[in-house]
Amino acid sequence: MQSIPPLDLTEQYAAIAAELNAAVLEVLQSGRYINGPVVDAFAEDFAQYIGTPECVVCNSGTDALYLALRVLDIGPGDEVITSPFTFIATAETISAVGATPVFVDIEPDSFNLDPELIEAVISPRSRAIMPVHLFGRPADMSRINAIATAHRLYVIEDCAQATGAQWQGQKVGSLGHVGCFSFFPSKNLGACGDGGALTTADPAIAATARMLREHGSRERYYHEAIGINSRLDALQAAILRIKLQHLDRWNARRAAIADEYQRLLAPIDQVIPPTAPQAGQSVWNQYTIRLSAAASDDDLRQRVRQQLQQHGVNTMIYYPLPLHQQQVYAALGYGPGSFPVAEQTARQVLSLPMFPELLPEQQARVVYSLKDALLQR
Ligand SMILES: *Cc1c(COP(=O)(O)O)cnc(C)c1O
Repeated sequence: MQSIPPLDLTEQYAAIAAELNAAVLEVLQSGRYINGPVVDAFAEDFAQYIGTPECVVCNSGTDALYLALRVLDIGPGDEVITSPFTFIATAETISAVGATPVFVDIEPDSFNLDPELIEAVISPRSRAIMPVHLFGRPADMSRINAIATAHRLYVIEDCAQATGAQWQGQKVGSLGHVGCFSFFPSKNLGACGDGGALTTADPAIAATARMLREHGSRERYYHEAIGINSRLDALQAAILRIKLQHLDRWNARRAAIADEYQRLLAPIDQVIPPTAPQAGQSVWNQYTIRLSAAASDDDLRQRVRQQLQQHGVNTMIYYPLPLHQQQVYAALGYGPGSFPVAEQTARQVLSLPMFPELLPEQQARVVYSLKDALLQR
């Protein structure tokens, strides 16, 4: 019996190998590996796909977040409001520019930061809100934008897990001042290596981001700011250009798989499946359930995970420890219980295999094995 991985990238490559190989070969033969027409073409395609006038491509999602913060001149003494239940890069980049992440708890059903809690932490030092569209599900951008406007804050969307997701008919990354994307291989639009992009409607933001990404230079060898080197390789751009053409189809497959999981999991008592957003569309980068149990959630989850593994079903835990409880953020002084929803969520979540090529029989086996594991405890 072949085991089912949480994510399989080989099937996707096999399905479009001829297209990808030809595009890669063309770049190899062109001799233009940094910047150039393929990189520009992908940036244009991506801007059009997201629905923003501007797109600045860069080397990773982390760099996109860092550049967004730098462009908006956020630094020492400033505060940025974000979620404690996300990948470290979200808060890490806030710290990297010298600002302070200020966390608010999440909503239990969406896993995203709870807009109701934002106003209570706004201070004279607040500069921006950084919502994360976690697991592909859009955050409530209507309420977040309303609060940001009322308090004159920037909105930087962390779209790393949500390429193609929509809120009220608009793609994420076009709703705040800046959208930040990752093309890490496991994201919905994944390169064969690192990659990232920043989207915005503001040409001045885009121009400054381009300057910072090229060593603080607009004209080669003339430098006006301390920047970084963060380019998207031509090889990755060529690959992403092709994959972008398939993205909507892949995201539709993910949505169909999520519907099927929902149907299969509904009868299982101890499982709380994720919900779909009311005013938007998730792109299901992860399908993350909660295992509910009164007492030690974590022990139950470990046992279930091990038994699933014996059935050849591999799962992931995104994320086992919220950011405010990470060692690196001990100095921020958030004690246990600071964000009870995030803390409980971290003990209960389990991400099931989710990728567009997941077969119906594999999916049935995931659910069957999960039922079995829960019965046996
Ligand atoms: C992946 C990810 C990032 C960082 O992207 P990289 O391309 O890996 O640097 C940032 N935020 C979130 C929520 C992510 O999932």
